[in-house]
Amino acid sequence: MRFLCDGMLGKLTRWLRILGHDVEYSNNLDDEELIALSRSEDRILLTRDVELYRRALTRGGKAFLVRGGNEAERLAELASRFNLKLEVDASTSRCPKCNARIKPVKKDEVLEKVPESTSRLYDEFWICLGCGQVYWRGSHWRRINETLEKSKQMVSSGFSVGDSQTDSR
Ligand SMILES: [Zn+2]
Repeated sequence: MRFLCDGMLGKLTRWLRILGHDVEYSNNLDDEELIALSRSEDRILLTRDVELYRRALTRGGKAFLVRGGNEAERLAELASRFNLKLEVDASTSRCPKCNARIKPVKKDEVLEKVPESTSRLYDEFWICLGCGQVYWRGSHWRRINETLEKSKQMVSSGFSVGDSQTDSR
C-alpha cells in the first residue's frame, strides 16, 4: 500500500514509514499537484483537509480523510481502514526521513556515526540506503511502542472515525 501525505501530516508520514509503508510527503505541492501525484503513482492521498479530500475523490483519485487528533488515533484510523499492522518490523521499515529502505549494519561500521554512549549501550543498528541515517532502538523506542499499544487498543475496541472512506467516485 502506497500513500501520499499532504504537508500537514509530516509526523504521520514518519510513523507510517517506520511501520514499513511507502509514503511520499510534500509540503510544497498545491492541491492539484497532490491529486495528480497520487493518481500518477497510485498512492492513497492522506489529508486532514476536507476540501482536498473531496476534490481528490471527484477527480477519481483515492483519498482518506484523517480525523484523529493525535498520532495514536490517526494510526488507529488507518489501521482500521487499511488493515495495517501496528507492529514495527525492522526488516520492512523505511527511513522516517526519506522513505528509502533501511538495512541492518554491523556496529563497527557505524561507530563513527553514532555517539560513543550509544555504541556502548546498543548492539543493533540499521542504516538508511537512501540518506545514510543510522538508527538504533534508543530511548524513544519505548514511546513508539506505547503509542502503538494505544492505537491497537483503539482498534480492538472498535474505534470509529465517522465516514472516512477511500471510494473512487
Ligand atoms: Zn533515509
